Amino acid sequence: MKFFLFTLPLIALLSCQPKTAADDTGTTTEAIVTTEIETEPADFVWQTEKFADKQIVRYRVPGFGKLSLQQKKLVYYLTQAGMSGRDIMYDQNYRHNLAIRHAIDKIVADYKGERSGDDWDAFMVYAKEIWFANGIHHHYSNDKFMPGFSADYLSELMLAVDAMLTEEQMAAIFDAKMDAKKVYLGDGDQVLQSAINFYAPDVTQAEVEAYYADLKAKNPDSRLSVGLNSRLAHNESGQLYEQTYKIGGLYSNAISEIISWLEKAASVAENQKQGDALRLLIEYYKTGDLQTWDDYNIAWVKATEGDIDYINSFIEVYNDPLGKRGSYETIVEINDFDASARMAVVAENAQWFEDNSPVLPNHKKKSVAGVSYKVVTVAGEAGDSSPSTPIGVNLPNANWIRKEHGSKSVSLGNITHAYAKADGPGLLTEFANDAEEIENSEKYAQLAGKMMTALHEVLGHASGQIEAGIGTPSETLKSYSSALEEGRADLFALYYIPDNKLKELGLIDSDGVAQAAYDSYLRNGLMLQLRRINVGDDIEEAHMRNRQMIAGWVFEKGQKNGAVEKIVRDGKTYINILDYDKMRVLFGELLREVQRIKSQGDYDACKELFENYGVKVDADIHTEVLARSEKLNIPPYGGFINAELVPVMDEAGEISDIKVTYPEDFTQQMLSYAKRYSFLK
Ligand code: ZN
Repeated sequence: MKFFLFTLPLIALLSCQPKTAADDTGTTTEAIVTTEIETEPADFVWQTEKFADKQIVRYRVPGFGKLSLQQKKLVYYLTQAGMSGRDIMYDQNYRHNLAIRHAIDKIVADYKGERSGDDWDAFMVYAKEIWFANGIHHHYSNDKFMPGFSADYLSELMLAVDAMLTEEQMAAIFDAKMDAKKVYLGDGDQVLQSAINFYAPDVTQAEVEAYYADLKAKNPDSRLSVGLNSRLAHNESGQLYEQTYKIGGLYSNAISEIISWLEKAASVAENQKQGDALRLLIEYYKTGDLQTWDDYNIAWVKATEGDIDYINSFIEVYNDPLGKRGSYETIVEINDFDASARMAVVAENAQWFEDNSPVLPNHKKKSVAGVSYKVVTVAGEAGDSSPSTPIGVNLPNANWIRKEHGSKSVSLGNITHAYAKADGPGLLTEFANDAEEIENSEKYAQLAGKMMTALHEVLGHASGQIEAGIGTPSETLKSYSSALEEGRADLFALYYIPDNKLKELGLIDSDGVAQAAYDSYLRNGLMLQLRRINVGDDIEEAHMRNRQMIAGWVFEKGQKNGAVEKIVRDGKTYINILDYDKMRVLFGELLREVQRIKSQGDYDACKELFENYGVKVDADIHTEVLARSEKLNIPPYGGFINAELVPVMDEAGEISDIKVTYPEDFTQQMLSYAKRYSFLK
């Protein structure tokens, strides 16, 4: 599971977004980031450019210099392993992405003709959109980018640099109807109508479901993550078969590069457990064996003693309309000890929170195991995590491993910090109801954000249990399962943030914290997050659905019992919470219901909840939000230029040190990556 920060400030508080309040306040000092941040150069450029609906941001890697040489090597090897799979993400996203990107890379690198004017500018925006999204579909809305230049112009550019695309690839770019959605979650056949390359173009949803029903029937007790690391296609006799990502299978070239760097990483592991886990990951990449994948995850969860950690593989399943197949990604992380210590307090008290939650008694865990939450500093990202990055990650995804062996949850502190630096204070001022709300937010939103994050990550996702005999959420709740899970974790955090227990534990000292969290949650869920979609569209992304569902549900009930009101002033809409205690009761009621839905696999209730509150958008509010935020000129999406780790070699050709540099130009980094890491055709 991962959490995004949308540059939407107020989102900050959203649990799924450790983005904390920096957003909300516009101030940027994030205590969550280590003291070294204080020494960062005052003239460091955080935001390098804006295009379309995006901004490009740089992050710093404080703490890297303090690592031992062996640790620096480990970080370096892990980032190289991650980058080696960069092309995989492009190909997974869409079958024509790599061909298109190779052509575009070549033009941007080599074209000697006129590199200015409307056509060229539109071409460069298109190129950057593709690099940002790892393909020709928007990373968030899933809509295909439509170029602002003609097919003739592109042909002319390609001719000049000796690049070529087939007729079908050209149609993929210019024909608005062809493969219009990367992930389609509407009515009808979601597999056929999704452009995502997890399934061959002629594979239908019914076939896929039958295929897995059959597997399940043959092996009802299997807990393997079937489908996680393969593409489904028809063989010559028309039957489905899995094209597994492994050595000798799909993506073999890139995988062998990944393995070679992982082997180097294993050779400089900080401890036995970390090395063992890396060796299992290598084995998994070699064989594609899903039992090895589970073994690896268990080993990885237990490897908690090092200062360096990472994720690397086919992990999140948000890009699969059926929630089985994992997108390639990597994040390399250095522990931030100061910040993590604060979160440990929450983890130590996990059982108290579980026991005292409002969910039904038989839906509570008797013992909450292995909850681990850390704030880390990102040293490098690739694939699904780059350039657009989550701000928090909670893995592994397999429920049974989480239950029996625990999980690791991290918040990406330097990413959150960079976002805050890149943004301004504008949205809070525009959308908060009154000066009191702004003042309270400025005072407490940062802390509220940190607490929401900790509660969501450490306790929310770890809490609750499924009734005996009920399938996994992806089986029972299907395409709603991700959104429901995020909603459940958000609600757990919303329910507990006003609790006196947090004061007892010394984590917060004012009711203003919960008030800031509630204000922000409703502002975002009902209004601000609508900045992320086009007028007339439904909400399709899981995190957005969950937020609107929760905010919409409590708003409807709260208007009736006097907990909250809508105020319209000078044609502008504001949300005003009148009674925070009543709001808490509502969050608790919804938490109990959402947990019941998960525990009992109640698809009908789940569907109704989301279709009533989470999917449809109020067109008037949407238009208003867009008009009000447009003036502030804050792009809704941020993506990152990676830091570069540069080895310093001694006379013997050995690495004697590794330096961090911070490239300044997104395009140059993308061209450099294309040169170094193009391992797939
Ligand atoms: Zn979450």
